Amino acid sequence: MKNSSDKPRGLLLVVSGPSGAGKGTICGLLRKELPELCYSVSVTTREPREGEVDGREYFFKTVAQVKDMIFRGELLEYAQVYGNYYGTPKPYVMNLLNEGKDVLLEIDIQGALQVKKVFPDGVFVFVMPPSLEELRARLYKRGKDTEEVIEKRLKAAAGELKSSSGYDYVVVNDIAEEATQRVLTLLEAERYRAKRN
Ligand code: 5GP
Repeated sequence: MKNSSDKPRGLLLVVSGPSGAGKGTICGLLRKELPELCYSVSVTTREPREGEVDGREYFFKTVAQVKDMIFRGELLEYAQVYGNYYGTPKPYVMNLLNEGKDVLLEIDIQGALQVKKVFPDGVFVFVMPPSLEELRARLYKRGKDTEEVIEKRLKAAAGELKSSSGYDYVVVNDIAEEATQRVLTLLEAERYRAKRN
């Protein structure tokens, strides 16, 4: 797609999937492989976890601040995930795309489906865990959440797997490095296709 100055617009890569499927690991590896890929830092109302830095993992906001951003139309998408708001700052993403830069969003399924309506020519990748048993094991192993939260996330994941049909690509995350290579390959193909259109 072209922008108003007829400069080719950057590619929007949306990596989504159930919590614990490994989106974060894959996105981390992608960013290492493609330092020019711009990562959109989301806003959230959840509490920072240990080691998280405001402006790096997330912009940590109050509910009132996020509601204000929603009201002013400053979010490209937003969703409530496990009781907290998460959203993608719109101006950052739009400016970069218009400058011809590729942008990476790592967001939940509700958000990805909203973005697809606005950017149907984005590249939507669903990260699929090898199985629900493996997902359970990963969520417990990463130790980020309480048992109650993990069980909530697992329950949600069972339904979320059905949403994969709305995506352009499904990448099974058995081994993160291999799954990342598959994303890199499809991204290269999509870039080539975008150039031809
Ligand atoms: P966590 O709290 O574990 O960092 O993230 C919880 C979920 O929220 C993950 O599935 C993550 O991908 C998703 N998430 C992070 N940022 C955004 C965002 O800007 N929008 C939406 N819709 N989901 C997000």
